[in-house]
Amino acid sequence: MKIKRVEIQGFKSFVDRVALDFESGITAILGPNGCGKSNIVDAIRWAMGEQNAKNLRGRAMEDVIFGGSESRKPLGMAEVSMIFANEDGQAPAAYRQYAEIMVTRRLFRNGDSEYLINKTPCRLLDISELFMDTGVGARAYSIIEQGKIGMILNAKPEDRRFLIEEAAGVTKYKSRKKAALRKIEATRQNLLRLGDIVAEVR
Ligand code: ATP
Repeated sequence: MKIKRVEIQGFKSFVDRVALDFESGITAILGPNGCGKSNIVDAIRWAMGEQNAKNLRGRAMEDVIFGGSESRKPLGMAEVSMIFANEDGQAPAAYRQYAEIMVTRRLFRNGDSEYLINKTPCRLLDISELFMDTGVGARAYSIIEQGKIGMILNAKPEDRRFLIEEAAGVTKYKSRKKAALRKIEATRQNLLRLGDIVAEVR
């Protein structure tokens, strides 16, 4: 899936709504130090579900909400929307009929948060599943920041395998297998408890 557009409002230094269009080919973002270039990458990572504030260069998740400047008051909400082109039909079956998929994340200062896919509220899990095996996603290889290439080259084989599995499209099945194994274990525990009860009432 290819990023077509990113809309940012109230996220870090982006107090007013900003829309960035990504045309085909290479897009470069230029600007003086501290103008907000890295904040755009943080916004993209955040919209795709990043849960760790440290990976967004903050201490707490609330730090992503515009905190005020000399001329502007702090805002109460951050919102980032990403629009993906699904021309290659790489999106999961549930979204395959859409030519464009819009993913939105909102965070309010009281801690409430919202996730939406095509303007319909959804769970964080739905967002993660949407990106699984596409190479896009909060932790996927689509975001290569400074030092990441060195990190990949020096990574332990099992960590490097994670990237290869994502590229090969195996991640989704591994994640579903994990969830199924958890359910089997919970069912096994329930059966054990049931067995005890049956033995007691006999
Ligand atoms: P460099 O070229 O030095 O790496 P950059 O263009 O990548 O800089 P960023 O790191 O994206 O710049 O932006 C830093 C700016 O964002 C700082 O001025 C900082 O005050 C501002 N900023 C970060 N978080 C917030 C926030 N929650 N509210 C308001 N401003 C913020």
